[in-house]
Formats: sequence, structure tokens, C-alpha cells
Amino acid sequence: MKIIKKREKAKLLIGLNYLDKRTKLNDTDKRYLINLEKGFEGEERFDGLVKTHLNGEALVINDLLVENKGNTFQIDTLIVMFDTIYLYEVKNYKGDFQMNSGQLSYTSGQEITNPLIQLKRTKELLRQLLKDWGISYRIEAHVVFINDAFTLYNAKLEDPIIFPTQIKEHLTGLNAKCKNLPKQSVYLTDRLVDRHKTDSVFQKQLPPYSFEEFKTGVSCSCGSFELIITQRACYCKMCYKQMSIEELVVENINEFKFLFPDQKITTSMIDDWCGNTVNYRKIRNILQTHLVASGTNSGTYYQ
Ligand SMILES: [Zn+2]
Repeated sequence: MKIIKKREKAKLLIGLNYLDKRTKLNDTDKRYLINLEKGFEGEERFDGLVKTHLNGEALVINDLLVENKGNTFQIDTLIVMFDTIYLYEVKNYKGDFQMNSGQLSYTSGQEITNPLIQLKRTKELLRQLLKDWGISYRIEAHVVFINDAFTLYNAKLEDPIIFPTQIKEHLTGLNAKCKNLPKQSVYLTDRLVDRHKTDSVFQKQLPPYSFEEFKTGVSCSCGSFELIITQRACYCKMCYKQMSIEELVVENINEFKFLFPDQKITTSMIDDWCGNTVNYRKIRNILQTHLVASGTNSGTYYQ
């Protein structure tokens, strides 16, 4: 098994995490952030199981976002084998659910989007894309419910669902179907990864924000502002992570750049962002090392 594309945190999730750390998110956005985080955790757990149990010849693409003829579709995990492509929609739902006439809901009654409908659409759009490319492959698509505390009543036997208790068996079962991969598989995965789009619309999906409402100060990647800073190093009182001042400032500059991509960066701006906790000249040196300086002496900014 070879991983062709690794999973990365979605930009929307990164952005919401930054906003959560430095502003106060409203309840809806906070809930959305928690759901995105749970979803990501579930996908990572599935990645771990694939790594552990799938050891035959297969190519794995994680988190693929593709647009074809005006339709965009996203695939959590795609495994290319000898003559079949396996695609998986991973759901980290927890609790008791029921399926009634194609409608998925909590047993308490609250309806949620049925991932089987999304899966059908994704499979069809992938099939069309391969047809456009003149590539013929069988496609098998499944929804994977990854959380051990997930129960679904009234599912049909023929529903393409893999339950938590079946994941290991499913993946080890794939090993038996592995044969030497034809050249076409490599060609296909390269072409799909080439086609991958980064989520460029995430900025519009974030709630509106401005510099003034942000909590300033240097913060650790765990979200804590409780740092002990000495001449050269600093450590986080929350997660005990130790890092150099340079690493810390670079991380906080990256955060600023992520949230304000169009803003020209100046030393005093980063000094404010870091809550005036780090020596001003040190910040300037770090900016000079890691970014490119432009403008005149009095109005230097960094890109
Ligand atoms: Zn920390």
C-alpha cells in the first residue's frame, strides 16, 4: 500500500481554530468547528486502520477535491487496486440513528443528511470523470461509520455501509483481491492528484472578523496563551511543548498571514499581534529571515 496523497487539515478548520483561539465564536460556529474536528478525527482514525490492515498492492489518495464540468465532488479516501477503485465516505457519527425510507435521523427524531445520497452522487461524478478520460475501472463506494458508539436501526443489508465492527474485516479482505498494479493505476492516481483543488472559498465561509476584536499575544499551537518566555526559548504551560522564540514567532506570523492574506506585514503589526511580548528587534530579524522585505526603510513591509 502506498499513500499518494496525505490528508491535511482543511483550511476552513484551521481558520475556525484560529478564530476560536483569538475571538469568541458564536454557538453555531463553535458547533460547526466541533463537528469539523470530529469529522477530521474520524478520517484520521480510518487512515490509521488502512495503514494497519491494507498491505497488498494499492494506491491511496486521501481527501480529494475535484471539479469536472461544473460539478465539484470530494472523496474522503480513495483506494486504487488492480481493476477496482474503492471510495469511502467516512462519518464519525456517535449515538443511535435510524433509517426510514432513505431518510437518516437520530432515534430522537432530528433528521440529518443521509451520506448514502452524497455517496451515490460522488460515485456517479467519479464514473463520469473516468469515462471522460477513457479509463475503465470498477468503482465500489461505501460509507464508513467509524465511531464505535454508533448504532443504526433499519439499515438494509444491501446498503453500502461499513459499520465499526466490519472495518477491519473489510480492509483485510481487500488484501486477498490485490494483484500487481497495471501502469494505468499510477497514471490514474497522478492525474487525479493533479486535478485536486485546494479549498479556495474557505475565507468566505469563515465568520467575518477584524484585527480589533482579536486577542493579541503569542500563542502555542495547542491554543494556549500561557507561555513562559525566556531569552531564547519558550514553553507552554498547558501542553509543555518547548520551542525556540523563532519557531514561536514564525508560527504566530503564519497565523496572521492566514487570517489577513492581503495585509502588508510590518514589524510593528506583528509586534502588536504578538502582544509586545517578544523583543521588537528580534521580530524584525525573524521577519527578515523568513519573509521577503519590500518598500523603503521607513515603510518596510514583508511578503
Ligand atoms: Zn501548548
